[in-house]
Amino acid sequence: MQLSQDYLEARGRFLDAARQADVPVVHHDHPRTGPGGEALATDVAVVGAPDAPNRLLVISGTHGVEGFAGSMCQTEWLARGARVPDDLAVVLVHAINPYGFAWIRRVNEDNVDLNRNCIDFGGALPENPGYDRLASALVPTSWDEQTQAETTGELLEYAAEHGFDALQEAVSRGQYQHDKGVYFGGRRPVWSRETLEAIARGALTGATRTGIIDLHTGLGPFGVGELIASHPDPAGRDRLASWYGDGAYTLPSEGTSVSSDVTGDILDGLDDWLDGPEVTGVAIEWGTVDIVEVANSLRADAWLHSYGDPRGPEAGPIKAGLKAAFAPPDPQWATMVWDRFTEVTGAAAAGLES
Ligand SMILES: [Zn+2]
Repeated sequence: MQLSQDYLEARGRFLDAARQADVPVVHHDHPRTGPGGEALATDVAVVGAPDAPNRLLVISGTHGVEGFAGSMCQTEWLARGARVPDDLAVVLVHAINPYGFAWIRRVNEDNVDLNRNCIDFGGALPENPGYDRLASALVPTSWDEQTQAETTGELLEYAAEHGFDALQEAVSRGQYQHDKGVYFGGRRPVWSRETLEAIARGALTGATRTGIIDLHTGLGPFGVGELIASHPDPAGRDRLASWYGDGAYTLPSEGTSVSSDVTGDILDGLDDWLDGPEVTGVAIEWGTVDIVEVANSLRADAWLHSYGDPRGPEAGPIKAGLKAAFAPPDPQWATMVWDRFTEVTGAAAAGLES
């Protein structure tokens, strides 16, 4: 069990494992390339009969760089034989945001957070006045030591005034005004959203029951995989409790999660896009390092791509910081991630069968 070094290696290992398991893969080519000029794609492997009544969609790389963990789990599961019962198909969506994965970013080619992009852009955009107030401190135009010290001071002042949870909420809930900022939800549906919608409609239409597992890293205690639901209806809550156990999942909308209650996440999107099958979705969020270190790595990266040079000398340390914050190079962490992955996917498969 091992995290890949980069997107190219992760993709190669995933495709090899699918080939060896005799599992067909469909490629959705991305219009851009990676930092080494490599082709980018979202690859979809379907294990089992595609028209099985129960289907489980497992998504990696929604947040680009977070894909190292999810890719490892998907690949390992294929490599260990990937067996499913007759009435279940498992749909592995590898690197739904391949650009962010390859460029070591949490966002996509448009600086958009895919997990904030799944709103209805026909209506008024959600407002986030807390973010508006903090925008210039979060991603300043320069990133020297003095600016970092000053802007971090401003953020701490906000936390002292409103509380740390309010700071996290303002920063990470999602914002639609500051296109050079962090947690920017975009102004239109992005490539990854449209691709995910097409994949989900194609793979899940006609199913009776579906489960979604979206794989994330970067929040919570080291190696702990918190199960997070988005905005399930009462029947959805009952299914979550029966699949995973009472109290086994958290709800950001009720303040029980390490995550803020976000706007436009893909679980809500999938629930809207799929009419017909019953949808029971969760994210697994594996903790890595301290939240301040995670936040600062994202601020540095947003600065690099908005005001710096992603191919310049500052890029190396900033990218290393992101990788350490979202995919810690620690075998113990990888083992904890894998163990939790098998536990959750096993529970989902059993839940779909019940
Ligand atoms: Zn994430």
